[in-house]
Amino acid sequence: MAAISLKNVVKKYGKGKQEVQVIHGVNAEIDKGEFIVIVGPSGCGKSTLLRMIAGLEEVTGGEIWIGNRVVNELEPAERDIAMVFQNYALYPHMSVYDNMAYGLKIKKMPAAEIRQRVDKAAGILELAHLLERKPRQLSGGQRQRVAMGRAIVRQPQVFLFDEPLSNLDAKLRAQTRIEIQKLHRELGITSLFVTHDQVEAMTLAQRMIVMNAGAMEQFGTPEEVYHRPATTFVASFIGSPPMNLLKNAPGGRSGVITGIRPEHLAVGNEGWDVRVETVELLGAERLVYGKLGEEAVIVRTDEAQPAPKPDDWIRVRPLEGRLHEFDATTNKRI
Ligand code: ADP
Ligand code: MG
Repeated sequence: MAAISLKNVVKKYGKGKQEVQVIHGVNAEIDKGEFIVIVGPSGCGKSTLLRMIAGLEEVTGGEIWIGNRVVNELEPAERDIAMVFQNYALYPHMSVYDNMAYGLKIKKMPAAEIRQRVDKAAGILELAHLLERKPRQLSGGQRQRVAMGRAIVRQPQVFLFDEPLSNLDAKLRAQTRIEIQKLHRELGITSLFVTHDQVEAMTLAQRMIVMNAGAMEQFGTPEEVYHRPATTFVASFIGSPPMNLLKNAPGGRSGVITGIRPEHLAVGNEGWDVRVETVELLGAERLVYGKLGEEAVIVRTDEAQPAPKPDDWIRVRPLEGRLHEFDATTNKRI
């Protein structure tokens, strides 16, 4: 049995002429203990989908299953889920301990069990020495860990995360990502994690749902999504810089878009003639922006290779087995 099943889930806002559909029939089966990332650009419907699973938004059509129950009509508190948001809003006047314990106290859980659960969560999150502090005496990363602690102590069937790292700086985000992975290994709780950041998605996901404009474009492992993107949207959204998508690649077929990632073009004596426009050095690698005929193309090269200059001509060869083909009408992988 799946831990979570989404069966043709639809969301519409508004009525009559004002009606807009923002989720277009999403289907997914999520296994027990999986860490799933929902990724897509801002406004594509990630939060709406997560909030329907949490019970914070009504479902317009389809069914949401958690375990062996259809939860469409259940209150959030009855769904056995815990959610962590971007704006985690701790209670400022309460200690770290009380912030984590609060939800359990409300449920009238015995004090000894609350103590045990909070201590365990604090141990995992390395907050044990901070339990008496107030939120204002913590760093941003520590506050985010308290917010996660609050979710952990509830020992839910499912964790839902909505962009919980967006308020942290880049370094702290990378650290917290590693902590979340560790947490998942230790607790093994089925998790749905929403982000607009494809790097976060690639590094955290066991499987990822790539969304665009309210529809699921692909559901697969990071490897599948990177190596076999299902659509041109996925091809250009996952991977940085994005895959080159060429309407008129040399040797390409008409009605077919040829895709090649910047890291899969090798500079040498053979291949496609590219006229260089700009070059960026990013430390270990160099990005060459140029034109192949009329079309823009990006090539990723090694910093150790000689750097081309603007207006130079270089030759680039697609590496064996790295070309992708998409139908130019449907934008789907061929
Ligand atoms: P994401 O989390 O991917 O950035 P959201 O799920 O927040 O996207 O929003 C998806 C779409 O639904 C957006 O176009 C947004 O404007 C619209 N939307 C969200 N909430 C409402 C609402 N209460 N009423 C009308 N439209 C909404
Ligand atoms: Mg959102």
